[in-house]
Parts: sequence; C-alpha cells; structure tokens
Amino acid sequence: MEKNRRNFLFATTVLAAGGAVAGYNKTLSTALSMSRNGQAAKDPIYGNNQKIEGKVATTFSKNPDVIIRNGVCNGCTTNCGMRIKIDKKSGKVLRAYGNPYNPLSSDPWLPYNTPVEESFSLLGKDSKLAHLHRATACARGNMVFDKQYAKNRVLKPLKRVGKRGEDRWEEISIEQLIKEVTQGGNLFGEGDVEGLASIRDLQTPISPNDPKSGPKANGLCVLGTGDDGRKAYMVHRFVKSFGTQNYSGHTAICGLSMRSGEAVYLGDTNKYPHLKPDFENCEYLLTIGTAPAQAGNPFKRQAKLLAQARTERDLTCVVVAPMLTNADSIASGDKTQWIPVKPGGDLAFVMGLLQVIIEQNLFNASYLKTPSQEAQKALDEASYTNATHLVIQNEESFGQILRDEKEPLVLDEEDNKLKPCSLVKQATLFVDTQLEINGKSLHVKSSMQLLKESALKESLETYANESGISKEKIIQTAHEFTSHGRKATVDCHGGTMHTTGFYTTYAIMMLGAMVGNLNYKGGMSAGGGRYKDFKGKKYNLVAFPGKVKTHGYRIDRARMAYEKTTEFAQKKAAGQNPYPAKDTWYPLTNALESEMIFNSAKKYPYKLSALISWNANFVYGQSGSEHLIPLLKDPQASIPLFIAIDPFINETSRFADYIVPDSVMYETWGVTAPWAAYQTKTNTVRFPTVKAPQATFESGEPITMDSFVIELGKALKLPGFGKKAIKANDGSFYALDRPQDFYIRAFENIALDGNPVPDCSDEEITLAGLDLYIDTLKEICGDNWRKTAYVMARGGRFEAKEDGYKKEKLAHPYKGVINVYNEALGNTKHSLTSERFSGVPTFYKARFSQGKLLEEVYPKSAYPLLAFSYKSNVLSQATISSLGLEEIRPATYIDINPKTAQNFGLAHGDMIRLSSAGGKVEGMLRLRHGVYPDCIAIEHGKGRDAEGAIDVQIGKNVISGIPLKKAGVNINKLGLEDISRELATLSDFVIGSNARQAIPVKIERV
Ligand code: SF4
Repeated sequence: MEKNRRNFLFATTVLAAGGAVAGYNKTLSTALSMSRNGQAAKDPIYGNNQKIEGKVATTFSKNPDVIIRNGVCNGCTTNCGMRIKIDKKSGKVLRAYGNPYNPLSSDPWLPYNTPVEESFSLLGKDSKLAHLHRATACARGNMVFDKQYAKNRVLKPLKRVGKRGEDRWEEISIEQLIKEVTQGGNLFGEGDVEGLASIRDLQTPISPNDPKSGPKANGLCVLGTGDDGRKAYMVHRFVKSFGTQNYSGHTAICGLSMRSGEAVYLGDTNKYPHLKPDFENCEYLLTIGTAPAQAGNPFKRQAKLLAQARTERDLTCVVVAPMLTNADSIASGDKTQWIPVKPGGDLAFVMGLLQVIIEQNLFNASYLKTPSQEAQKALDEASYTNATHLVIQNEESFGQILRDEKEPLVLDEEDNKLKPCSLVKQATLFVDTQLEINGKSLHVKSSMQLLKESALKESLETYANESGISKEKIIQTAHEFTSHGRKATVDCHGGTMHTTGFYTTYAIMMLGAMVGNLNYKGGMSAGGGRYKDFKGKKYNLVAFPGKVKTHGYRIDRARMAYEKTTEFAQKKAAGQNPYPAKDTWYPLTNALESEMIFNSAKKYPYKLSALISWNANFVYGQSGSEHLIPLLKDPQASIPLFIAIDPFINETSRFADYIVPDSVMYETWGVTAPWAAYQTKTNTVRFPTVKAPQATFESGEPITMDSFVIELGKALKLPGFGKKAIKANDGSFYALDRPQDFYIRAFENIALDGNPVPDCSDEEITLAGLDLYIDTLKEICGDNWRKTAYVMARGGRFEAKEDGYKKEKLAHPYKGVINVYNEALGNTKHSLTSERFSGVPTFYKARFSQGKLLEEVYPKSAYPLLAFSYKSNVLSQATISSLGLEEIRPATYIDINPKTAQNFGLAHGDMIRLSSAGGKVEGMLRLRHGVYPDCIAIEHGKGRDAEGAIDVQIGKNVISGIPLKKAGVNINKLGLEDISRELATLSDFVIGSNARQAIPVKIERV
C-alpha cells in the first residue's frame, strides 16, 4: 500500500478515537441545542424539520412550496418507484420515499385506480390504512440522491490532457467532442486515431482472413451497467443501428453464475429468464450465497416480504453463507437458521442435498414423471420437466435427447413402451437401458438417472468435507426442505461467483425441480412480466428502417461454440487436433464484460477500435482488474479510442479519452420492470423529475446518454435518428430528435396496452407535478396525452395484487420445460480441454479453466485463508458520490472470526495486510463471531481510487479528492489471474463469470 494511504488509514483511526474524547463536549452542546453554524434550531429536540408535503384534514391539501413527482431510485439495481419531494424555489430534491402504487416500494400496493389525492390523504395520521400503504425507501435510497449535487460531478464534456489516467482534463463543447470522435485524426498528438465514422463499416471484414468474425463495425464495443430503464434504447437504437455485435452489461462481474445456472435450468440461454421465490407465500426458504434483508434484488421488497413472512406467517428461512448477515434475525427466533458454509463450498452442500433427496426418495415423483405440456395440462400441474426424457449414451450421438421428428420420446410407465412425450401422462423416471430402434441398438439413460449418478458420484462424507457442513446437517436440511412440498423455495446470487458457480446455481435450482415448485403459489416464479412498453400497441420503438442485423464473433467470444469457428475448421482441415483453441469460447453465455478488454489486447478474435463505456466501472468491480489498468492506459494496447458516458470520473472512466456527462437519479428517462420476486405485470416509468444541471446542446437539451446518442447518430448518419426515425404501427412516421420522442411514446404504449388506462384529470396532473409536461404530452401523444399522464401520475402501470395468482398457481407462469438435463450444455465441449460438460449439475472442485485445481497451486500451507466479499445494505458501487452515505458508512473492514484471529496472533483493530497471488490490500481487522473460521469477509463498496477520492484537474481548476472515500478495502484488488490462460482473470470454467469469491490469501500485521 502506498505510504499516503497507510498514513491516512492510521490517521482516520486516531482521529476517530480522538474525536470521541476531544470533540465530545462541543458535539454534546451542539446536539443539546440542536444548533448548526451557531444558529439555534426551530425545535430544540427535533431540529429544523423539512417543509411538509401538505396537510390532511378530510382531503389532502398540498403545500404550495413543494412539488411531488414520481421517480425511480437507482441507488442499487432494484429501481424502486419513488416519490420525490422537490423544493419549488430551488428545484432541488429534498427527500425521496416510496411510491405507494409501486410493488417495489409498498406491499400491498394501492389499487391502480386509486385517485392520486387519496394516495396522499390515506397516509394521514387518522387513516386506518396509513401503515399498510406507507411506501418507503431503504437507508440507501433515503440518502443516495444527494449525489446529484456532488462537487465531483461531470457537468461539461471533457477531453483528456496528457496521457490516459493522469487525471487532467479540459472542457470542450459537445459539438467538438462529437466531431472528434466521429472523424478521428491526431486527437492527442500521439498519432492518428480512427474515428467512429470510419469504424462503422458494414462491408469490410474486421479480420480479413476470417469472414465469420463479422464486419469492421464490430470494432466498436459498448459496455453498460445494470438496466436503469434505458438499456433497450441504447441497444436497439444505437448499438444495433451502428451495427456492432458488442454490447454487454455488468452481469459478468455481478451475478452471471446465478443468471446462467437459472437460464440452463429453464432451458433458455437466449433470454436468460430469472427465478425467485414467491417470498410472500413460501413456507421454507433456502437462501444460499445471498441474503434477503442484507442485499439482493429486489432488495427492499424481498426484505419486507421476508420480515412479514417471519412475523405474520410461519416461514422458515435457512441462510447458507460463510457469514452471518441481516438475513438472519434473532427476533424471528427459530424461524431463521444460519448454516455456515466454506466459501465456494455451496456446490458440495447442494450436491449432498440432491444425493439425500434422490437416495431417500424424498422427491415429488409424480411431478417429475410428467413429461410434456400436454401431460401437465391433463394432470393439472403448473409446470413440467424433462426428467423422463432419454439421453443417448452411444458415442456417435452422445448427449442428444432421443426424439422422433417432432418431440422427445419417453417410456410410458403403464406399458413400458417408447412413445412421444405428448402422448404419455406419466413416464418412467429412472431409465438405464438398451433400446432397439430401426435395427440399431441405443443405450439411453433418463435425465433423472443422469442426475442420480451425478449426485452419487461423490460420497456424502466428501460433500460434507468440501462444504464444511456436517453429514447430519445435510441430511436434516434435505428432509426439512422436501417436507414443505411445493412451498419449499431456493435463492442464490453473488456468493456463487466463484470458479464453479455456474454448476452451483444449476444444482440449487434443481432442488426446486425435486419438489415441483415452479409456477406454484409459494414456489418459484419467473416474475409477473411487464406491459407492452417499447414494442406496443401504437409503436414498435425498437424497430426502424435500416436497423442492422448484426453478425460475427463477439469480442468476448460469447454466444459462439468454438466448433463453429474458422479456427476449428482450419485445424480440422489440416488434420490437426482442433483442441485446444487459442483461448476460451462461451456458447452458453450471453455477454462477458470481464473478457472484452483482454481479448482486444490479445487480438483474439480481433482487436477493438473503440470503446464506449456507459456508467460502467469494471476497474472497480472486476476481481483482478488491476491487470486491466496497463491495457487501458496505453491506447495502442487494447482500446485506441475510449469514450466514457458518465456523470462521474470513476475508476474506469478516468482512463477515457473523452467523457460525456450523463443524468443522475431523478433527472433520467426510462422504463423499468422488476427482475423477479413479483407476480403481477409491472412497469415503472421515469422522467426528469428535476432539471439536469449539466451543459446542454444548442437546442437546450441537457447532455445525457440519450441526447448524445441522438446527435452522435445524426453525425454518423445512422438509421433510426432524426426525421422519420420512429414508425407507428399505423404506418406513420415521427422524428427522434429528443429523448422524450422515444420515452414518452413508450409510456403511451404502456397506457394503451390491453384495456387502456383512464384519462388523467387536471387535478391529478397538478397534484402529481405534471403541469410542466402538458405541452410535450399533447405534442407527442395527441388524443392519448391524458392517458399517458395517468401513467406518469402513478409512476408507471401496476397490475392488481390479486391478479398475481389463479388459486394455487401463478397467473403469469413460465411456460418452458425445466431442464433436469440440459441438452445444449451436455453437448458442449470446453474449448481448451475438449472435456464434455456435464448436462446435469455435478460436483467440481475450484479450478482454473484448463482443469488444474486452485488448491494445488495455492495450498493452504501458503494461503491459509479464503477471502470473500459480501454486499452492503447501505453501500453499493453506485453510492460513493453520496456524502450522506459516506457519513453513515465511512469505511469498511477486514472481518475475521475471533478464534482465527487468535490463531494468527491478531487483535481487533490491528492494521493488517492480505496478500493473494494477484495482489495485496491493507485495512483494519474487525473481529466478528459470524464469520466462518479461516476466512476473511470484506464488505463491498469502499476503498475507492476515483469518483471523488483523488484530485482531478479540469482546466486550471483542481477538484480536491476527499480522502475518506479511499478508506476501507476493495477485495477485487486481491483477484487472481487464470494461470491456465494468457492475460485473463480467474473465472467460472464453463460460463466465464468473474470469480471474485473464495480467494486464497495470507495475512500479516502491517
Ligand atoms: S432498494 Fe433502496 S437503494 Fe435500491 S433502488 Fe430501492 S430504495 Fe433505492
């Protein structure tokens, strides 16, 4: 650690202690008089209260000094619908709280036709419904909007001065920025840089020797983050108009192991559907590597539902994690259990559960025997699996499911005959047999048989040793879980981000198949869906004349099997063994942010020409990202042109050539929907609730991602921008010149979907603070303007709570087949080792991509501890520019079990250094009984190197960094390289998700 930083950490410790003594008298007197800056507060106890929203007598009478509008919080990726209180005079946000119409902020939420006036008046103190509908923000959501006013915010377009990463910038006009990035040239006195106009070539192959790589336009890569409601706009309007294959969000460094395991379980690696428990009605929740009430998505909603379920119902919540978090609760007594698990030991634990469930016949046999949708209907089931489908074991067709021309074949349990699955109600579950078909002998096993063999591959002792959970506990948990039938549920998230995280999630989800819980009330749900927004009744906003059908390899080598590449074909044609490939390919993964910069540097499959990062911060968020920094610093190494669209200069955008300002929090347009854990159709709309403070285009439009993309698109003469860019379903055309041309039409689509919403009254328009938008609404929506206003006045459109269920089933079920065996997975080979992946969940030890075990390379004798990160209930990657949150959580610590600390001769408060083979971090040791022995736990969100933490020079001004932002520890600096690959960080060996958990480390006192 550099000396300054160390001194700072010492200084904060001493200051904190000193403050407790020397500053106490003053603090006490200040507190007692509630005075600030020498001015006595209005109330000696309650201080200076904010302006009230209004008064409730019999009806609500709004305070004319404030405006209340709907907005969307994105203090985390939950995107809760909020109500924002704005000071009319200053136009500043005073406070944010939940929108009572929105399921992410209130449960039960208000019936959609509740008048806006009533939505306020029933919150008055005399209302019996006040507590029921009081919509809230979480601790983070209460504060995080102050980042809109952060002094380190980028308000004007910036161009770097000096070398990349020197933190020196000059302000330029947006017109100059667009001209330079479009036309290129000798932009920095370092030689010619190719501009976007030349990169956007849809004819010339990007790799002259390999036409399969696609056109030169693939040389642009766009990296976003979580979807804040604008992803569809960026992807469909810009990325697909430019014609590049290369867009990625942040999933690879966030929860891709979980997403991919769920996608394979549901048999859809295209759309990546997402599963969550029906928290409200489940009886047993096994939550592994995630912690509702501590973190996760939807954070606020699931925390509330969990609290209700444990207090008002009999939910048993079992938290399997290496650390005791807020997901456990002493108040809920034995309704909560914490099962401590070794970091990365979750796969062994779950394979142990599957073994017990299968061996002891604890599964729902009749459900698993249901082989088709037809049988599902006939038996009144809510879902079905392919447990009885037959998988060919003969070498030439190994791994394929046995089918006729139309559908899989199964053995009818009644007569043991082979039949199309649609004609069979109950098929034989365990099959391992030879079949004679068309004179050919076929060895087949059923999916369930393969799962059984896989679960029994290791002994229960091995699973116990690997997980750190006793055999008895595994057996007990398997019995408890299955005793709740379809109301037993599972959940997982970031804890599975290790080298075998994909199979871990697949195995966790498989527990649900054992009890048959998908689409049942109290079981698992893929969510309630959304109203038709971007592709709706009046407009298809994601289609436009000239939209490019992109093609070719992606830079991350995702969505492509190695066996389909030119490299494979050429090696075969030359009579060579095609394995290993030059590097990994990921056919079942949809995007890998963590591979893109490295792959460009390796020129495999090609080199990028430009990167647009949009609020992305992989340098902070990717485990092992220190290895990216030299590549970002040198324009020749990986990214010749780097444009960041970002309201802040973060750890990633500080290496950009240009920075384009963007909107923050309540200044932003968008349409969002919850991820999961909701059963009803839900759309939240966001529009600029407060005025954006940044520079504008000549038109007066604030510079944001949305407006920048329009003007850049016009400069590049891309289809889908300017005149006649939006086509209505009746064949008429409209211009896309401003973000509202797009987003308000999406709101209109939502308003018109199904039974259109009513018209909004003048009174509601005023109460919801929408007067400002009337002219724009009339101009864009014509006769529908009041319907669109109705949606905006309620912050979106929300189906009634009671419409989420049909008796004991979900009203919006997932319609696909559950893959007990995933055929695509079972037919995929590792591109380096040529090993065939298991098509069912199976146990692997932590490994490098090529198969070498981590424990062989980093033995416990050299690296005695395993480090893991846990998500904060206050901080997130998006919160560092909030000063309010800085005050609440000024630092993070290195957490360790007291006995482990004692074994190393360490004490609470010691300054210590952790070292892995990938890097070092230093911080203060904190003893916590709730940490698994021989482990290190680190809260995510602090230890920052940018975004207000360091000095930045803009022109002649230096914006001083706030040293407190550096306080704490960023675990990702310990991240490992994959030693079995050239220039790559450690990742899941099947899916490529960034392995940031279970890092072997050593510890020493500084
Ligand atoms: S959970 Fe909290 S921080 Fe996250 S979006 Fe909702 S209110 Fe904001």
